[in-house]
Amino acid sequence: MSVVTVKNRGYKVPFKLSDVLLETLEHRNQLLEEYRLQLGGGSVSYLNHTETPRDPLRSNLLKLLYKYKCQICDKRIETSPGKYTCHTHHLFQVGDGGPDDLANMMVVCPNCHIMLDKGALYLDIDFDRVLHFRTNHELHRKSINIKHYIDEYYVGVQNDRYRTN
Ligand SMILES: [Zn+2]
Repeated sequence: MSVVTVKNRGYKVPFKLSDVLLETLEHRNQLLEEYRLQLGGGSVSYLNHTETPRDPLRSNLLKLLYKYKCQICDKRIETSPGKYTCHTHHLFQVGDGGPDDLANMMVVCPNCHIMLDKGALYLDIDFDRVLHFRTNHELHRKSINIKHYIDEYYVGVQNDRYRTN
């Protein structure tokens, strides 16, 4: 797989990818706690194992950055008082060889997650908006929330799933 280098859009992310590759479990949970506090609280699942193909440290950091709100529809699901649930979606699916890398990930609600998986949505990343195959759908041309760097190559892989008929 050749990864196309794209322009850095200058997103300000409070953590660096290199931070996320810390080796000991203690350091990794410490980092998670620091960013949890920096980003104004929220609940996280602390880690009980070191890096796996899908690392919960990265997805936890991203969920904190977006305060558990879906980047597509802005919804946040409260599952118990003060506790929120959201998913992280890999644009280039890990099962297909995509990396578990922040630049390949988005925070989404379960509804938007399934629409991305099934190709109902097109990410128009140049305009920070989403298109739905039904042009009268509430999400069609809705602006999306992007606070971290997303690689356009992975967006392209995602958009290959989009079908309008
Ligand atoms: Zn959503």
